[in-house]
Amino acid sequence: MTVPGKSGATSQSRGVGTRYTVGADGWVAAATRIDSPNRDARPDALPPTLVVIHGISLPPGRFGGDGIVRLFTNTLDPAAHPYYAGLAGLRVSAHFLVRRDGALVQFVSCAERAWHAGASSWRGRTRCNDYSIGVELEGTDTVPYTARQYATLAALLRALAARYPLEAAVGHRDVAPGRKTDPGPAFDWDRLARLAGARRLRFRTDAPTRPAERPGKAGARSARSAV
Ligand SMILES: [Zn+2]
Repeated sequence: MTVPGKSGATSQSRGVGTRYTVGADGWVAAATRIDSPNRDARPDALPPTLVVIHGISLPPGRFGGDGIVRLFTNTLDPAAHPYYAGLAGLRVSAHFLVRRDGALVQFVSCAERAWHAGASSWRGRTRCNDYSIGVELEGTDTVPYTARQYATLAALLRALAARYPLEAAVGHRDVAPGRKTDPGPAFDWDRLARLAGARRLRFRTDAPTRPAERPGKAGARSARSAV
């Protein structure tokens, strides 16, 4: 699935060709596995039906460090950065993290509940962690996510949709409006929908805050979206 002659095709085609498989145990074998202790059983062993997409960087706006992994494994040093002091004692996780270069990390089996959405609701159904899969994209609300991240995310969504009865993929801000803003106006839902092409998934493409419409607001609030 290469596109010869187009600039940027190398990084995109590498990702577009990526295929993942979700095992019956809820783990993606091709992902780097780093177990998080911040997890528990899904109530009534409910299968996940929702994907919640997040944006995160630690410290905010800085990419490539070990802050996210440390946060999800309860090993973040509160003294390592002024911002980290406010995260002390947090017990959070997500099922997946997609790095800026498209690398996929998995912290929690999809069969279990990760602690990513907090107080949340989707179509009147509260406690989204019970029935969702949390995917963190390394980034901020206002810096464009990378082509490799979209490619990895699309491949992951296709694999998840093949394993679970997924109904929708939405943003953290969609399930916690007013409290969370990630993945922010920088995230291109139309692009994800085009790449993923999973007919069973209804992607949120009616984002009320696009970069061209409200350029400053989300950026000012992004630092509060810790997870
Ligand atoms: Zn979030």
